[in-house]
Amino acid sequence: MGDGKKRILIIGSGIIGLCSGNYLLKDGHDVTIIERDPLGDGASCGNAGAIAATEIVPFALPGLWKDVPRWLLDPLGPLSLRMSYLPQFFPWLYLFLKSSNQKKVEKSTKAMAAFVQNAFEDYKPLLGNAGIQGLLKKEGSLVIYKSEKGRSKDNYFWDLSKRYGVEFNLLNREEILDREPALGERAHCGMHLPNWGHFANPADLVKGLAKEFRNNGGTHLTDEVEAIEYKDNKPKAARTKGGQALEFDHLVVAAGAWSTRLSKKLGDNFVLDTERGYNTTLPTPGVELSNMVQFAEDKFVATPMNIGLRIGGAVEFAGIDAEPNYSRCETLLTLANGYLPGLNSDGGTKWMGRRPSTPDSVPVISPSRHHDNVHYAFGHGHLGITGGAVTGRAVSDLIAKRPTAFDLTAFNINRFD
Ligand SMILES: Cc1cc2nc3c(=O)[nH]c(=O)nc-3n(C[C@H](O)[C@H](O)[C@H](O)COP(=O)(O)OP(=O)(O)OC[C@H]3O[C@@H](n4cnc5c(N)ncnc54)[C@H](O)[C@@H]3O)c2cc1C
Repeated sequence: MGDGKKRILIIGSGIIGLCSGNYLLKDGHDVTIIERDPLGDGASCGNAGAIAATEIVPFALPGLWKDVPRWLLDPLGPLSLRMSYLPQFFPWLYLFLKSSNQKKVEKSTKAMAAFVQNAFEDYKPLLGNAGIQGLLKKEGSLVIYKSEKGRSKDNYFWDLSKRYGVEFNLLNREEILDREPALGERAHCGMHLPNWGHFANPADLVKGLAKEFRNNGGTHLTDEVEAIEYKDNKPKAARTKGGQALEFDHLVVAAGAWSTRLSKKLGDNFVLDTERGYNTTLPTPGVELSNMVQFAEDKFVATPMNIGLRIGGAVEFAGIDAEPNYSRCETLLTLANGYLPGLNSDGGTKWMGRRPSTPDSVPVISPSRHHDNVHYAFGHGHLGITGGAVTGRAVSDLIAKRPTAFDLTAFNINRFD
């Protein structure tokens, strides 16, 4: 792209940094990604792998707060909060509750419906070139309920999803078993979501995108960014723990749950927290699922991966740095045993990941408030794999000053100011 060629530095080599890097290389930029933990098993590697192109309704819904005490008290419940973390958690909780009124929910849903629209399409130019398109299974997903009463509790969610274009079909028990015979008696009724897919292993996806990035001339560095240096009041270089000063024309912060530690250094505050999630991958599960299954009332999922069956979910608020509490994995396996008779939990690999979560479930894809050479791409919560390619494309469009495929107003870092 000739004169438009820029030296771009991306902080973070998760799904968001890698998709952004690969899209920016297509524009002819000189792109470097810096990652402190290249062999790590971060959020983008160990998750459930879904392209959840129907998940457009935010978590903060009207009346949701009524369920919270019950969830917190239930040892098998989907939500946990470490009490010592409550004072730090309060600003996020406050904005979460503020985001749960009907008007705000509609606004977020509309924004997310536009966001997920090209979720599959925008991966195509990345996967095809990386030779990893075989990892993507686009055969839909089932949502399972234990009773009609359970399903009707979610009527608001389904009505709202439908109004914004989500396709789903109601299924009775027989129809569920036709699709997934391994499900036991607890599966009473459900929904089929045709516009859903999953990667057979998100770690392979991340590795493939990283290889593609390097093969196309991108530079991948291992180091940790500690500070930003300025010249004439403009961010100009990233100072690393290893003592490097990496100069850039343009900076992209895609550091997942750690992003606001960096944005703060650039004068851009945002209330981000981490919803820590857990899973266990069972190498010989003893049951077979053909596609991803979601268990609506117990709030966990099962994904068939190329390395076994992954059972995961849970939301834990404990901050970024707290040690994992792997008993959450046991809880999820206990729940899964209730739905999948014959499940063999032996030899499972336990994992915890940090979802970078915004109070309104809408990511931040935004220019800095103060610096025209800084962009942010973080806060994808439960949808980082879903929205990885969409975000990468949007970041490249923003930097090229092209019109973006969807309106980014709701994604601005200043929206809670
Ligand atoms: C249990 C669980 C299940 C999930 N399932 C799904 C799913 O099915 N579908 C879906 O769409 N999403 C899912 N997610 C969410 C998804 O995993 C995340 O949204 C996504 O991985 C976030 O990607 P990211 O690139 O923003 O962050 P990350 O993957 O965390 O990457 C950020 C990187 O930045 C690096 N970094 C941070 N600070 C610095 C610094 N100062 N210097 C250098 N490097 C730095 C970190 O080391 C990290 O590797 C799930 C998450 C969990 C926990």
